[in-house]
Amino acid sequence: MPQLPHSPAADGRPLVASFSRTALAHNGQRARKLTPPGGQVLGVIKADAYGHGLLESAAAIKDSVDGFAVLELAAARQLREHGLDAPILMLEGFYGAAELTEFAALALTTVLHRLDQIDVLARATLVQPMPVFLKLNSGMNRLGITLADARSAYERLQSLSQVASVTVMTHFADADNARGTGWQLARLTQAWPDVMTARTSFANSAALLSGPATRDALGDVVRPGIMLYGASPWGASVPGKTATELDLRPVMTLRSELIAIQDIQAGERVGYGGTFTADRPMRIGVVACGYADGYPRHATNQTPILVEGERTTLTGRVSMDRLCCDVSDFPKARVGSPVTLWGNGLPVDEVADSSGTISYELFCALAPRVPRLWQD
Ligand SMILES: *Cc1c(COP(=O)(O)O)cnc(C)c1O
Repeated sequence: MPQLPHSPAADGRPLVASFSRTALAHNGQRARKLTPPGGQVLGVIKADAYGHGLLESAAAIKDSVDGFAVLELAAARQLREHGLDAPILMLEGFYGAAELTEFAALALTTVLHRLDQIDVLARATLVQPMPVFLKLNSGMNRLGITLADARSAYERLQSLSQVASVTVMTHFADADNARGTGWQLARLTQAWPDVMTARTSFANSAALLSGPATRDALGDVVRPGIMLYGASPWGASVPGKTATELDLRPVMTLRSELIAIQDIQAGERVGYGGTFTADRPMRIGVVACGYADGYPRHATNQTPILVEGERTTLTGRVSMDRLCCDVSDFPKARVGSPVTLWGNGLPVDEVADSSGTISYELFCALAPRVPRLWQD
């Protein structure tokens, strides 16, 4: 195993993404603790576990969750092939009738978000009845049947021989901002006063971390995603809501090294387009990591970066394979100095905030060319 942090790669380009199983398991336990008593946790591992790796992530959290949620059939197949027999919720449901047969064969749970999908299900011959999540549009206006249709659709599903159980699901649009979740729950209960007698599934990470930990607020089944990977749905700038304050541990750490140093005079510019100008003689560190590795090209000159474990900032534009940073005040900086782009010691949320994006996008953008290493 390569040694960390000074030589992330055994050889070759010194850029490596390392992943912590213990951090993932810890975050899974956090989700579990926030779940209402008797509730179930479906760990959301769509999009290759938010770029972390499907199978490794599933294995690391399987003891803290009751099941998983994905939306790619290939991912569900892989989980089953690797012996995971826990419930798997298919978040976008099926796209055509043919898939439904395979869903049943793989013992998957499907979302139903359009009325015509119920017709398809009613005509299907399945090897076994399937648990379904009836998705309601309570204000997000993305997926889900209207609240006016909800109750009759629920009753119809309960009468179908193809259906093993029905869970009423909705997704929050504002769980991480001031509008909150109450307005969507109010619409839901107004349209369907005894909806809470059904089995329900509401909360994403932001709702789970906001509480209260009651089934009326979060549902019987919660669906945390981003918190499992140790990032905050609020980013880095909301007091009390940073990943550290929420007791979430970073799972992915992206590390590289300085591969060159440039001593430049005042007035010299750095990188494409010369968007950074030195106001004094400066030392510029050149890091083997660029947007082709998944580092955000829109990162500003305020974006933090760790060199030799100390914070400095980016200088100039991020290019395809490299980025530059200010090491003027780092006498120790040399070719080979360790650099952390995000993760342990540097919250990904700070990098995301400085780049006008969210941790989710940075994680998912980690490029295939970056070597991955699971540790601890
Ligand atoms: C992705 C997703 C989640 C997880 O959201 P996080 O903000 O990552 O916790 C939950 N529910 C649905 C329907 C999703 O698509």
